[in-house]
Amino acid sequence: MFIVTGGAGFIGSNYVIDLVKNRKNKVINIDRLTYAGNYKNIKFLEKNKNYRFVKTNIGNRKIISNILKKNKPKFIINFAAETHVDKSISDPEKFFNTNLLHSFNFFYEVYNYWRKLDPISKRKFKFLQISTDEVYGSLKKNGKPFKEDNLLKPNNPYSSSKAAFDNLIRGYSKTFGMPVLITRCSNNYGPRQNPEKLIPLCIKNLINKKNIPVYGNGLQIRDWINVSDHCEAINKVLHRGKIGEIYNIGSSNEKINLNLIKIICKIFDEIDSKKKFSHISLIKHVKDRLGHDKRYSINSSKIRRELNWKPKISFNEGIKKTIKWYLKNYNWK
Ligand code: NAD
Repeated sequence: MFIVTGGAGFIGSNYVIDLVKNRKNKVINIDRLTYAGNYKNIKFLEKNKNYRFVKTNIGNRKIISNILKKNKPKFIINFAAETHVDKSISDPEKFFNTNLLHSFNFFYEVYNYWRKLDPISKRKFKFLQISTDEVYGSLKKNGKPFKEDNLLKPNNPYSSSKAAFDNLIRGYSKTFGMPVLITRCSNNYGPRQNPEKLIPLCIKNLINKKNIPVYGNGLQIRDWINVSDHCEAINKVLHRGKIGEIYNIGSSNEKINLNLIKIICKIFDEIDSKKKFSHISLIKHVKDRLGHDKRYSINSSKIRRELNWKPKISFNEGIKKTIKWYLKNYNWK
């Protein structure tokens, strides 16, 4: 039995769908359905007898405690979070409430559940926290990609709230022997991502022939991975990862934001080839984000070496498939 939180959001929904449909696992999906959660993402799973959705805040200890007692999960994967950096700058409190306080309340109930399990179930149980490469902070152009033992140097309320929770659960693992694992992945792209984020926003605006806002000079660098490669890596870590360890997940696919947007524009030019309209003309530079991190780059040699994982989807293939999905599912959000 799996409990997945945040499974109505972007990565969580991709993960839950794979878990229920392809891997035939029993899953309880707990999501508060904030503005970022989209019930349409996972509604079709309702018919599956192995699946149940619970709409609640992960910080609601009473409900969480009851779910744990009744269902006795073996694995818990925590995706639930506030995730948009811009929103963390305009409303930091919400981020520390969700990513630290509610997350702690949730984790504390999980800890209480785990410590009362019989010895065999206790040994088999695992809690996997989905963290982010953003906890490491920003890299210089020639800086070495982040490794798991880099210092955490988060630069905004989103990344600092995530880093704080990573440290909190590390304390529980070291002091109480709580069986936790942490993954830190780079920027994801793929189906079902909220159009507040760069790639779906760009695609949505291109479909509507609206300007594409680019922060500052657009020379920030991000390391992109397809969401299904991320989900496979999560399964590897869950089933084969060493308890108490952190695993970076990345595709070694760094792109300058402006170049990434131009790639997407060119794909739209190809799709719209008869119209002789250059989609690049829709790019519009806007005021830069406060404290904007210049570069993220992740060294994922540990998971590749120790758990025999590697990404399968090339960026060219993945981005074309992703654009097709948004064109086909135009009204999904
Ligand atoms: P998302 O914003 O698309 O989804 C977050 C989900 O969490 C939503 O469904 C929302 O309703 C739910 N949620 C928020 N607060 C909740 C609460 N208190 N109780 C219950 N549910 C709550 O996020 P995402 O992009 O899918 O990211 C999922 C996780 O992966 C996050 O923890 C994020 O930090 C991490 N991550 C994301 C990326 C990325 O590129 N998107 C990269 C690395 C790590």
